[in-house]
Amino acid sequence: MNIILFGAPGAGKGTQSALLVERRNMRHISTGDLFRAHVKQGTRLGTEAKTYMDAGKLVPDEIVLGMVEDVLKELGSQSFILDGFPRTAPQAEALEAMLKNYDLSISKALFLEVPTERLMARLTGRRVCSSCGASYHIEAKPPQRAGICDLCGGIVDQRPDDQESVIRTRLEAYEKSTAPLKSYFTGKGQFVAVPGLGSTEDVYKQLVSHLD
Ligand code: AMP
Repeated sequence: MNIILFGAPGAGKGTQSALLVERRNMRHISTGDLFRAHVKQGTRLGTEAKTYMDAGKLVPDEIVLGMVEDVLKELGSQSFILDGFPRTAPQAEALEAMLKNYDLSISKALFLEVPTERLMARLTGRRVCSSCGASYHIEAKPPQRAGICDLCGGIVDQRPDDQESVIRTRLEAYEKSTAPLKSYFTGKGQFVAVPGLGSTEDVYKQLVSHLD
């Protein structure tokens, strides 16, 4: 079963995706992660995307779509999670066309619901391993050794776009462009709201109850 996992920045999409990968052997396709990998490798696409990412703005659709299509066209039969894509109505429509082209389908669009006032605290306290991408929080889940990833020993640091001023722009972009997709997915019969508060395990249980 292929799914879209969507919700505001800081809703827990990455954390839940990591569990789905580990426990259900799903493939995680995160456009944010793909962009960060391009930035790290210094590709042209990475250079183009970085200006937008650092400002908390959405990368233009044409750049995103080409990158996603490159992944979709070489997918095997493994179930996948789309995380952070689609983020705009034109992206959602383009996705539909691409899925048709590659004979793929999405069963559900699971929306992780977290009140806006909780997002800021989650995002400003978030720290991420620069090597393996594992996610931490300075209060809720600090690494055992400060600044060092428990899983791979990499450097745990703050994402440049997790600074407060940039977070505000990202939340605005989410409200303006991504939140309206709730009605788009409802119209397609794919929308499911999942409460995103509580422990990671509680949220995971609720999430997978919609997958079986
Ligand atoms: P994320 O890791 O999903 O929070 O994404 C980080 C940043 O990458 C976003 O703030 C955007 O600048 C960019 N980005 C990721 N996915 C998309 C997308 N589907 N459309 C446009 N920009 C994106």
